[in-house]
Amino acid sequence: MTDLIDAGVNLTNHQFEGEHQAVIARANAAGVKAMLLIGCDIPSSQQSLELATRFDQYSTAGVHPHDAKDATEQLESTLTELAQNSAVVAIGECGLDYNRDFSPRDIQRSVLRRQLALAEKLNLPVYLHERDASDDMLSILKEFKVRGVLHCFTGNKQALKNYLNLGLYIGITGWVCDERRGKELQALVPSIPLERLLIETDAPFLIPRTITPKPKSRKNEPANLSYVCATLAKLYNVDENLVAKHSTENFYSLFDIAGR
Ligand SMILES: [Zn+2]
Repeated sequence: MTDLIDAGVNLTNHQFEGEHQAVIARANAAGVKAMLLIGCDIPSSQQSLELATRFDQYSTAGVHPHDAKDATEQLESTLTELAQNSAVVAIGECGLDYNRDFSPRDIQRSVLRRQLALAEKLNLPVYLHERDASDDMLSILKEFKVRGVLHCFTGNKQALKNYLNLGLYIGITGWVCDERRGKELQALVPSIPLERLLIETDAPFLIPRTITPKPKSRKNEPANLSYVCATLAKLYNVDENLVAKHSTENFYSLFDIAGR
């Protein structure tokens, strides 16, 4: 089996406390040779960088729309400082979430614009989150020169088309393994070019429902990435190795990492 890269792990989540090394070891044993650790506010961006440095992985630095309300005037300077480190390969997770509305929408939009402007200035890709906000997302993205990934894509056909037209990569999680709420996404998968696909677990969230036997815990981890890969291979009607090969190459190419 070709090596996999998990393009989205929330390793700083409290559910992984005290077992970072073990989680990474289990991932390696399951063929996941690298992972991108997601920062979703300043403390988790700092901690993701620390973990990425310690365990030779990659990380993002940014503020999630849920936390946009807590962004300060120092946002740009703090993220710039974090981004000086070579382990930081993207600005984000940033975006818009009108599904949960944990931050006021106008603040979400302004904090997204600030991070897109910063990414453009630093010439870094962005790691994007969008839920129920594709129209606003699209019009804001068009204001900038953006390259990046729309992580955990769960949108509709039109949104997918728009994001692909902007040149974005599309991140697919275990959502696609859900026989109930993943139906629409499953139908869309074949229209995502393999050259634009990234695969991710978004662990500890979104445990694939295709794992057998059914695990007792709902806590997901990067070692389960192969289940996402297997479901995608079925939907594309190709070999799993081809999905693995493309998503790994795409990861290196998007994040400007010389292949290892
Ligand atoms: Zn997200």
